[in-house]
Amino acid sequence: TIILGVETSCDETAVAVVKNGRDILSNTVSSQIESHKRFGGVVPEIASRHHVEQITYILEEAMAEAEVSFDDIDAIAVTEGPGLVGALLIGVNAAKAIAFSQNKPLIGVHHIAGHIYANHIVEELTFPLLTLVVSGGHTELVYMKEHGSFEVIGETRDDAVGEAYDKVARTLGLPYPGGPHIDRLAHEGEASITLPRAWLEPDSFDFSFSGLKSAVINTLHNAKQRGETLPVENLAASFQESVIEVLVTKTMKAAKEKNVDRVLLAGGVAANKGLRKELSDACEAEGLKLTIPPMSLCTDNAAMIAAAGTILYEKGYRSGDRLNGQPGLELSSQ
Ligand code: ATP
Ligand code: MG
Ligand code: FE
Repeated sequence: TIILGVETSCDETAVAVVKNGRDILSNTVSSQIESHKRFGGVVPEIASRHHVEQITYILEEAMAEAEVSFDDIDAIAVTEGPGLVGALLIGVNAAKAIAFSQNKPLIGVHHIAGHIYANHIVEELTFPLLTLVVSGGHTELVYMKEHGSFEVIGETRDDAVGEAYDKVARTLGLPYPGGPHIDRLAHEGEASITLPRAWLEPDSFDFSFSGLKSAVINTLHNAKQRGETLPVENLAASFQESVIEVLVTKTMKAAKEKNVDRVLLAGGVAANKGLRKELSDACEAEGLKLTIPPMSLCTDNAAMIAAAGTILYEKGYRSGDRLNGQPGLELSSQ
């Protein structure tokens, strides 16, 4: 099975060709980070325009690199949602145009299902498993008992982890996106500043990061008012320690409760060095298998969409020509 994947939900225009759900024939990504940097975040209108400009070139590049023609493709998988509506529409319409003109099936994929299936490219998934999804817009614990079955057992009640990283980074005067900068600083500093951890109700697998974010901002402002300067690397280290402690503790507790023997890490924040290490150590101590995708498959890409699309294709799932971009699409079993 050869699937063409298309992803345009946010600020990456991406097309990939994946064979049998696991072999990447090509994985082309055009990032717009430079265009959004001066605004300190993604500007939806600018994102849409970039996608329009880029999509045809990225598609041609991905097809050429994979050395395939449309005849070789079994189906087109595209991110249906969630994401920015104007951005999603570019990918969905490109995918529909190819599907219609080439008479190929069209498969709408949930963006987070894609992030999860990035792990399938690395290592064949076995079930039951638990995924910790940590990205710019999502923080979720997802239980899977089989392919295509997603049960969200916990999620953030306010900010996503990546969002909290980016907002704290902005307060510290670091460039966008701030996650990698905080991660780097955290390794140079000491977690010497006391910050809160939001455990929520004892039986809850939900998360909350806005209180922690506010605590960092308040700590910084209070110090400024007293005329003190706090070493940013210590603040970064303290923030990162709080985030990771909650993420890892809840993941391990959920893994035990759900009786899984495999854990996956997914989403852009999976690039975080501290999180990778702490989760690896915790899984090793508990005898759990852990998969973490390489950086190129953690951030937005279309290979993950093609990988998730392959499973759906093989299950016989088809979207039809009414497929539309859905900015608030929920992760449900397909
Ligand atoms: P979603 O997938 O929820 O729609 P998104 O696609 O915008 O959101 P990703 O591209 O998966 O998000 O991840 C981007 C986020 O990852 C940003 O918030 C960025 O700061 C964060 N990030 C990247 N590297 C690191 C790192 N090393 N440490 C912490 N955060 C990081
Ligand atoms: Mg992105
Ligand atoms: Fe993403």
